[in-house]
Amino acid sequence: MKEDIIIASNIFTEFLVQRKHRKTPERFAILRKIYTFDKHFDAETLYNSMIDEYRVSLATVYNTLDLLLEAGLLIKHQFDGQPAEYEKSIGATIHHHTVCTICGHVKEFTDKKIRKAVQSKMFAGFDSTHYSLYVYGVCKKCMKKN
Ligand SMILES: [Zn+2]
Ligand SMILES: [Zn+2]
Repeated sequence: MKEDIIIASNIFTEFLVQRKHRKTPERFAILRKIYTFDKHFDAETLYNSMIDEYRVSLATVYNTLDLLLEAGLLIKHQFDGQPAEYEKSIGATIHHHTVCTICGHVKEFTDKKIRKAVQSKMFAGFDSTHYSLYVYGVCKKCMKKN
């Protein structure tokens, strides 16, 4: 959504100013690109989708991903033996993940009951902001193979 990218840009601007990082056009181009993705992506996919429209180096992509993580604008997933996957944090629908322990394939699912259960949970002396849930198992493809 258009609103999300405006909110994200404002947060990023404030973050860069506070941390005395430069507000380079490359960093904002990367942020805008990320907020057009609806699914998980890795750094390489992001880089490859950028280079047609914008000249950025892979190093800039990695560096910007780190900054966006710090700024709370990205969520990072690190699954066994897989490159790190990212997804935007603002405007994303709350979802959960199934992870195949054989091929590493990650799928998203939503479940109202789980979401309500976690969100209504009160923790003593702890203010929760977000959460992630991973369900591990074997995917359809891998089941067929065995
Ligand atoms: Zn699998
Ligand atoms: Zn996800």
